[in-house]
Amino acid sequence: MNPLQGKNGALLIDDTYNANPFSALSALDWLSAIKTPAKRHFFVFGDMGRLGTNTRTGHRLVGQRASEVADVVISRGQNAGLSARAALDNNMDAHQVAVTHATNDVVNIVNNYKPNPNDIILIKGDTRSRMELVTSALLENPDDHRKLVRQNRILPTFAFHNPTRLSWVEINHDALAGNIRAIKKNLSPETTLMAVVKSDAYGHGAISVSETALANGAGYLGVSSLEEALILRDAGITAPIIALNYTPFHLVHEAILHHITLALFELSVARTYDRIARENNGKIRVHVKIDTGIGRLGVLPEDALTLFRHLLNLKNIEVEGVYTHFSVADEKSNHTANQLAIFKTLLRDIQELGYKFKYVHAGNSAGTLAHPDGHFTMARTGAAMYGIHPSPIVKLSSDFNPVMSWKTIIAQVKTLPPNHPIGYGNTYITQTHEKIAIIPVGYADGFRRAPNTWREVLVHGQRAKVIGRVSMEKSVISIAHIPDVSVGDEVVLLGKQGDDQITAEEIASHLDTINYEVVCSVLPRVPRR
Ligand SMILES: *Cc1c(COP(=O)(O)O)cnc(C)c1O
Repeated sequence: MNPLQGKNGALLIDDTYNANPFSALSALDWLSAIKTPAKRHFFVFGDMGRLGTNTRTGHRLVGQRASEVADVVISRGQNAGLSARAALDNNMDAHQVAVTHATNDVVNIVNNYKPNPNDIILIKGDTRSRMELVTSALLENPDDHRKLVRQNRILPTFAFHNPTRLSWVEINHDALAGNIRAIKKNLSPETTLMAVVKSDAYGHGAISVSETALANGAGYLGVSSLEEALILRDAGITAPIIALNYTPFHLVHEAILHHITLALFELSVARTYDRIARENNGKIRVHVKIDTGIGRLGVLPEDALTLFRHLLNLKNIEVEGVYTHFSVADEKSNHTANQLAIFKTLLRDIQELGYKFKYVHAGNSAGTLAHPDGHFTMARTGAAMYGIHPSPIVKLSSDFNPVMSWKTIIAQVKTLPPNHPIGYGNTYITQTHEKIAIIPVGYADGFRRAPNTWREVLVHGQRAKVIGRVSMEKSVISIAHIPDVSVGDEVVLLGKQGDDQITAEEIASHLDTINYEVVCSVLPRVPRR
């Protein structure tokens, strides 16, 4: 434990060399021993790895103890989040607990507490969680950086390259946070950002993405189904959430119980929702969806006024918002302007009925970036948050960065003789002696077999072609031109390696689809971290 001078006279206790439950509890015992009512005690905590089946128990123990000792608990990372939740379960006030995933988010939250000489900030985490980066950012004198463990800002990945799974997805929360801030820059301060985290946050992991989105200025979460909403509630997320898809009647009582907003687009459905809410002694909050020209869910403009007139009498329905959705905001077309015009005219008529909406919204990422006249009081963005371009026409600026990487490792390296088949169906036959590597991913992970494959992956920063058929959980790549490849070397399927990068846009062009589908197509069995 290394005492250092923090900003504005706060005392930093840097304990970031390593952590396990015993050392974390000891550190908290120390904090407890020196605790005085005159001081504010912070516990800033990163993940503890290698705990196996004790991961949950170990982190919860630390969180429970922290709730007894600390005035403020800030976690960074998925496992450390378990500690923060244990602190909340132990009746720590929600305002004293923050769950984060990015270094900058920890630093911003600490700074929001306005550190002062009465603060003691204990920072702890294991080697891999690199919490010294947090300490570094909180130092009064940047030169004190020399007193920290692990001096280099970016360690070579092999230093901690110790995957427990054969293939995994890495989520760059600093990039995610940066993208969200970049979207916010496009919005006026009165416009609320809804982070669209449906489909497990487009495959990025809905819980941690939501936490980072909320820490960086999102004020609402958008999911598809009620089930997805409940997963977030279960994780302790209390922010407003809307289920944007259809919610069947038998689930409406859950929406009331857990304060989930629903999309509404039918008078008959509204009447039933109202009755269910009355029977449950609750109110159901809704945003009414108007179909101004996409031809999917939504009430048609000609039926909208009737719906709103009746809604005035359905007292168990609270109409919090109204919205529409664009079909070609990502293309050059007058259709979007027409949709907007229909929406604006209708909005005027609805407001004449006496409605005052807290939220009016229209734009997805493309709409938000390309049509500022359609911002209203809320923007719903998915793609831009994840750093994927809405379309070749509406592209993200250089402020945005991709968030998802997908990686695996080399399982075997060998040289095949000429005329040797590779994979099922013998679709590839070696011409000469050919050096190949086996990678332990296949279509059961979402690494597509047909009609087209991923085509190329990165090994040592160079392109390696996928050859022969992709199997269920194995594929073969040609590494003839890449020297010194060995078992255990990192292989990048999506993301950066060395100076090269495989983007979702590139894979989309091989697979004849869009980048959205590429990030969603990494199957759930591939762990996210
Ligand atoms: C998915 C979705 C969005 C987000 O779209 P992006 O193009 O990813 O920004 C916005 N609104 C609704 C209703 C959606 O279903």
